[in-house]
Amino acid sequence: MVYYMNELPDDIIFNIKDFLFEMCLECNNKCYIDNLRKNITTTYYKDIFNDDFPFPRIHKTYKFICNRCISNLKKQLIIPI
Ligand SMILES: [Zn+2]
Repeated sequence: MVYYMNELPDDIIFNIKDFLFEMCLECNNKCYIDNLRKNITTTYYKDIFNDDFPFPRIHKTYKFICNRCISNLKKQLIIPI
């Protein structure tokens, strides 16, 4: 892969990089696409609230979220559903 990247014109490489990196919407870092998950909704996995109890982070949807942020959220009892 690296070999072929060296053969390509710079503008093509620039466009490919746009596809390979996306912004994590939790930490706001550009992450390699393999380290991201797409269209993820997270929720608390401890059933400590009533369904009608409003809580801002009980459900949150991310277009992209990195694996590191998912790990950090799990420590706060928030998991992808
Ligand atoms: Zn992140």
